[in-house]
Amino acid sequence: MANEVHYSFFHNVERNFDKAAVFTKWDGGILRQIKGCNSVYQMSFPIKRESGEIITVEAFRVQHSHHKTPCKGGIRFSIAVDQDEVMALAALMTYKCAIVNVPFGGAKGGIKINPRNFTPYELEKITRRYTAELIKKNFIGPGIDVPAPDYGTGEREMAWILDTYSAMHPGEIDSAGCVTGKPVSQGGVRGRREATGLGVVYGLTEVCNNDLLMKKAGLPVGIKGKRICIQGLGNVGYHTALFAQQSGAIIVGLAEYEGAIYNYDGLDVDAVFTHRKQTGSILDFPGAKNFEKRQDALEMECDVLIPAALENVINSGNAARIRAKVVAEAANGPLTAEADDILNAKGVIVIPDMYLNAGGVTVSYFEWLKNLSHVRYGRLEKRFTENMNKHIVTQVEGLTGKTIDKSSKDFIEHGPEEIDLVRSGLEETMITATREIVDIWNNTPGIPDLRTAAYVCAINKVATSYTELGIFP
Ligand code: NAD
Repeated sequence: MANEVHYSFFHNVERNFDKAAVFTKWDGGILRQIKGCNSVYQMSFPIKRESGEIITVEAFRVQHSHHKTPCKGGIRFSIAVDQDEVMALAALMTYKCAIVNVPFGGAKGGIKINPRNFTPYELEKITRRYTAELIKKNFIGPGIDVPAPDYGTGEREMAWILDTYSAMHPGEIDSAGCVTGKPVSQGGVRGRREATGLGVVYGLTEVCNNDLLMKKAGLPVGIKGKRICIQGLGNVGYHTALFAQQSGAIIVGLAEYEGAIYNYDGLDVDAVFTHRKQTGSILDFPGAKNFEKRQDALEMECDVLIPAALENVINSGNAARIRAKVVAEAANGPLTAEADDILNAKGVIVIPDMYLNAGGVTVSYFEWLKNLSHVRYGRLEKRFTENMNKHIVTQVEGLTGKTIDKSSKDFIEHGPEEIDLVRSGLEETMITATREIVDIWNNTPGIPDLRTAAYVCAINKVATSYTELGIFP
């Protein structure tokens, strides 16, 4: 990839792991077991295109850790997919799940295609065939390995996976739990679509509320008024931009595949999104200026830079020119190890991917639990809670002789819907994870950065799980 000749994403993850391992008490054997990938499945299969041409598709599924099952991790459609990338992403999933206390081992899948070059019919064939290959080798199932969306995939692909799996497992009552990120009508959970972006904003808000970290970054406390630039307006980037704007941040730059735009007074995220839908490009958005090259956005003057596209976009070639005070990794692996060192030396706060973008897997966990329990969140308690709250309001009004205004009354009486419960579970998870990592960073002498603290947190949890299983003394 650009500027890094022999870049290995998996080696980068291993390097970060080793950097953190010295701050833990575990012996080398346990650390080696945690670090390596448990199972790697490389496959290729033929597909007949609508034109009649037959092509061979290369694909992967990697289960990084079986310390907890099922394994969990997204499926990516990208021409850059290779075994190294999928292994790295699977490893990050293990650490991510451990940090947010989601009881899964890490996994990842990748299909080496550019989805823009295929029709929806061809993509469906590829997705269904990939699922069949996973079934053949027992690499998918509600208790085995549960995929989810990632770069280039979404609810549509997850629905195809479920349909293929269910057709080949007739009568399996928990089959809806074989994949998450499904449409709500197919057993998905409300709030999954926006979960990763919303989780990024919950995590970023918590960091911005931390006096020590903001002092280090030379920024005022709070997310309100922070000037943010975001790379990638896909599922993660779009929702991150939207919720950050709703939290009072100012979106000053946006970059997409076709180019990048900026406006220091702020860009309206939905208006840019609509403009892109109408014109096919974010460029020439009224009131904004175009950057000459899309990469220029990464180097713009801003408080927070949020890469939300792909890995290795900030590397030794451009890290020194990054002017943001905080880099919030919404994408997986956007910084190379060299870039990390350069930004740390400059005093930039880097909020690491492996917990900042954990909102997706957190809500996927809620979806999986919903599928296994076969009941919508809130269905049992909503009406009961509303009746109880109405009774309390009536009692309070009767005892005080005062009337509570309608909007407060509506708020107090409201029983939880599925979306309320999912979002509150996500917020709780992201705040708890941030505090845990910041505590490790504060209380471990010599620890260099939040990423190392996040790895220490993950290593300790996975190692404890192994030792408690009795696998190691
Ligand atoms: P997506 O396919 O929905 O969106 C990615 C967007 O990035 C696309 O719109 C694409 O055009 C754009 N893009 C690609 N290269 C670019 C470049 N050089 N400059 C600017 N824009 C570019 O993918 P996504 O699901 O949003 O995933 C993005 C990142 O977030 C990936 O690293 C993924 O692993 C990570 N992630 C996703 C989830 C999830 O729930 N989808 C969860 C955790 C982490």
